[in-house]
Amino acid sequence: MRDPRYDILFEPVQIGPVTSRNRFYQTPQCNGMGRTYPTSMAVMRGVKAEGGWGVVFAEQCDFHYTSDNTRNVRLWDEQDIPILARMTDMVHEHGSLAGLMLAHNGYITPNIISRELPFSPSGGAAFGNFPTHTRAIDKADIKALHRWTRAAALNAVKAGFDIVNIYAAHDLALPFHFISRKHNTRGDEYGGSLENRVRLLRELIEVAKEAIGDRCAVGVRFSVDELIGPAGICADGEGREVVEMLAELPDIWDVNVSGWAQDSITSRFGEEGRQEAYVDFVKRVTTKPVVGVGRFTSPDTMVGQIRRGVLDMIGAARPSIADPFLPEKIRTGALEDIRECIGCNMCVTNNYLGAPIRCTQNPTMSEEWRRGWHPEYIAHKSTDDTVLIVGAGPAGLEAARAMGQRGYQVLLAEARTELGGRVTLESRLPGLSAWARVRDHRVQQIQKMTNVDVFLDSQMGQDEVAETECSLVAVATGSRWRRDGVGRHLRTPVATTADANVLTPDDIMAGVQVSGHIVIYDDDHFYMGSVVAEALVKQGCTVTILTPAAQFAGFSQMSLEIAHIQRRMAELGVQIVPLTTVTALGAGYVSAVGVFGTDARDIACDAVIMVAGQTPNDTLFRSLSAGQSTQRIVAIGDCQAPATIASAIFAGHKFARDLGLGDPDVVPFLREDVELSPNLSGWGAEPLRGAAE
Ligand code: ADP
Ligand code: SF4
Repeated sequence: MRDPRYDILFEPVQIGPVTSRNRFYQTPQCNGMGRTYPTSMAVMRGVKAEGGWGVVFAEQCDFHYTSDNTRNVRLWDEQDIPILARMTDMVHEHGSLAGLMLAHNGYITPNIISRELPFSPSGGAAFGNFPTHTRAIDKADIKALHRWTRAAALNAVKAGFDIVNIYAAHDLALPFHFISRKHNTRGDEYGGSLENRVRLLRELIEVAKEAIGDRCAVGVRFSVDELIGPAGICADGEGREVVEMLAELPDIWDVNVSGWAQDSITSRFGEEGRQEAYVDFVKRVTTKPVVGVGRFTSPDTMVGQIRRGVLDMIGAARPSIADPFLPEKIRTGALEDIRECIGCNMCVTNNYLGAPIRCTQNPTMSEEWRRGWHPEYIAHKSTDDTVLIVGAGPAGLEAARAMGQRGYQVLLAEARTELGGRVTLESRLPGLSAWARVRDHRVQQIQKMTNVDVFLDSQMGQDEVAETECSLVAVATGSRWRRDGVGRHLRTPVATTADANVLTPDDIMAGVQVSGHIVIYDDDHFYMGSVVAEALVKQGCTVTILTPAAQFAGFSQMSLEIAHIQRRMAELGVQIVPLTTVTALGAGYVSAVGVFGTDARDIACDAVIMVAGQTPNDTLFRSLSAGQSTQRIVAIGDCQAPATIASAIFAGHKFARDLGLGDPDVVPFLREDVELSPNLSGWGAEPLRGAAE
């Protein structure tokens, strides 16, 4: 039964002309599916509604071809309505409200599909390193923006949406660019004073309200602070003044900090609820409902936000990915079943890669429609197998949990005296403690199952595996970091003298102590190099990082962490040397050279840490596979090929679903194909050859 102190989370909230059944609000959340995998997206949103989110938003929606963002949904005209209507149908089926955030990304989007020049308030270079400049929009463009907003709002209602928000956040939206002094140097009534710079946002909200406000809530998503002090929009400056100016105009305020890397900060760099200090003024300035985010997974924290008058609705993107049933679990008092987001941003990573998002905690994310995987339910066992799982890292734990949920008799054997494998070890590194939730959730579930037996301190060899007489064996024995430097850049081992002090992240995680000057060779390009550097500096070492890449930790661009990592390394005094590889390792030195062959030198050091490739611990799997056993042997997770924790969880889950029996000749998921247009009239509408012919 639910604890009555959480009742407040299930009170209805009036938002303009519509009512949310509770205070759970899934904010716009990019998912890499959007217009490319629309049914996957729609079904995923439906699962969120089923899981109890009273409001479910689509990701940001571009509403005109002058802002084309290929990853997300769009509503350029009526042609796009059916895709969105599929989503609203799925959401309404469970009694939730469907929301759409109209986004014009302005200078951010290079418009690679439509080939339109990006818009901006005052011209200037486009975002990032894209080799184009923007077009300063004129009064006619602003009038057009009014028209497009009105048309999109009307089409959103036709598609079934209950809430339409205007996007003015994250430095990713044109109305935000108009408010920002950094972008807006106009001399007309849309530039200069704050009143003038807010004008575009005010007008777009008014236009949408006038068009649909009687049937549909019209809100705003606004970043109240850019975290750059008074030089930018800030909560005790212009951010607050904007909210004061528009206080009662929108039906709901969805507020946060900017940019996205600050708003969706990883747990390594920002704790749950850290935005409170920036957004807590909003409710004092408006009577309209206020929603905000903060990677909320604790119902007590949520209740605290409401009771202390910070928020009216609990906004969430990532917690709703990790556990689409978070509200339902709170409602029914099943708190110990909550799969808490660990704040790793693997979800964001896949969105950036243009793939349907993955989640470390929730292996069913994006697989709801195409594989028919539900996050809470799984088919009862379909064979008479008894199952042995060797290794209790993320792959083994998830396999045991899901197999147990299916009703199989499961033995889980782990060589160490603690569960969790790499997750347990990595969670002890600086900033990664939340990662232990991957282990804790699964252990908690397994402990409730009478059909899963766990054996610690149980090193399994060929004989021990045979003795269990289990018919199905999943080998999840993980992987280890290579000591020889082989990885992406070096494909053959680096010359190493016998007396060289060469370590790996496994040694650091096992507690090996080092001191003095340490060189880290990073050919991993994700989080591990910087986390090890941080651990060593905290132990009193000085650290130099060599990387063959032009940019250290380059893959963390995808997880929104790169700037946070660079700043942290600078603050810790870690020296980063890019475009540099190692040629030899010896006692007290590393021989290094630029990747183009220049600047060969020896660097004196007390130890070198190789953060390069990894190698599977697959000896047991190989010997079992080569033996005569009648047991069916399957390798899963890092033991098959070292990858992310998310991949290991997915592998464990997939094994539990298909028992390793997937037919490689049959595509294991549904595809949603582009439909061939019957209309070929565009081609050949103009003469192919000129008049000269
Ligand atoms: P994954 O990410 O694939 O789950 P991990 O490295 O996190 O891999 O976990 C592998 C686990 O398997 C570790 O906890 C390790 O102690 C355990 N292990 C490795 N070899 C054996 C073995 N022969 N018998 C039992 N457990 C093993
Ligand atoms: Fe949270 Fe990581 Fe899942 Fe994203 S991938 S929702 S950050 S657990």
